[in-house]
Amino acid sequence: MTMEHSTDSRGAVVLDGRQGEGGGQIFRSALTLSLCTGKPVRIDHIRANRRKPGLMRQHLACARAAAGISQGTLRGDELGSTTLEFTPGPIVGGEFSFSVGSAGSSGLVLQTVYLPLLFADRPSKLRIEGGTHNAWAPSADFLLHSFLPQLELMGAEVSLRMDRAGFFPGGGGQISVEIQPLSSESSPYEMLSCGERKEVRAWTRSAYLDQHIPAREIAAIRRKFAPRDIPYEEFWHEESSGPGNTVQVAVVHDRVTQVFTGFASRGVPAKKVAHDVAVEAKRFLAAEVPIGEYLADQLLLPLALLAGGRFRTSKLSKHALTNIDVLHRFFPGIVRVQEESEAVDLVEVRLA
Ligand code: ATP
Repeated sequence: MTMEHSTDSRGAVVLDGRQGEGGGQIFRSALTLSLCTGKPVRIDHIRANRRKPGLMRQHLACARAAAGISQGTLRGDELGSTTLEFTPGPIVGGEFSFSVGSAGSSGLVLQTVYLPLLFADRPSKLRIEGGTHNAWAPSADFLLHSFLPQLELMGAEVSLRMDRAGFFPGGGGQISVEIQPLSSESSPYEMLSCGERKEVRAWTRSAYLDQHIPAREIAAIRRKFAPRDIPYEEFWHEESSGPGNTVQVAVVHDRVTQVFTGFASRGVPAKKVAHDVAVEAKRFLAAEVPIGEYLADQLLLPLALLAGGRFRTSKLSKHALTNIDVLHRFFPGIVRVQEESEAVDLVEVRLA
């Protein structure tokens, strides 16, 4: 899987949104890398492999956030647009409020802009409204417990607080994030083994639902892990603008925590949501790699821009491979993937 190499008449890096995974990730990574390198980008055929191709509210919010932190210019930033041109200006830190305007993921807006803001001239404070717990996106819990601690190991100071939970389809959640500009050279990142296992724990987040639902979920998780005892907590979110329920299982090791999330949806029994997330966590435990599927694709860009380094993970997902292709359009050959076994990949990323 490789992306065609092309630039347009403005010298913009041109990306084809049909390549690889063909979803929103190509678009978001292109914006981030454009901001970090100062190179303009054009993305064609945006989200061509999705049922509803083109920009949705969540993607528009990412594009506007990218423009907002850099006084950049956008063309094609409309709902449904399948081509977007972006020319970044200099990154300026400060206070920003972004709103997805739907239940779209606030975490994916953060994913687009946190890296450039680490290179800004001053600290930044972001308030991002939208969903905090969306299927197919990093939840506030995942960001807090899984992703940000790994960034910290790369020398980045990014703190996050969930002000209000926002579930699909009501949305209306909010995260607040503080980002300090990088202050020192970081040492290379290395995550080759899990280290000592501390615990497996679970928690549910719910709003406006029958209290039996989280109780059933927790019972299903504990059964699945029996005879090991799983500590658990129930959180209720009166502040949420609509009903919702998620169940989280965290596998906590010395230096890395993986959060797995199950998202309740209409017609799916609570027991099944909990069962599936427990299976996902157990599969991860059995794989004996330190980095799970979602962290693997999310660590590629920060590794290239902040620290360089390497990690072991299960076979890379199509998402991760697509992200590598996008990275290679800006920094050719920066990622090397070695197949350690049929099930395990060793990923090495050079500092750009
Ligand atoms: P769309 O095309 O609708 O925008 P997308 O293809 O961009 O969707 P994905 O690429 O599926 O969306 O996911 C975006 C990001 O969300 C990826 O970085 C992926 O690692 C992350 N992600 C997806 N599911 C989870 C999860 N359960 N936990 C943590 N991160 C997740």
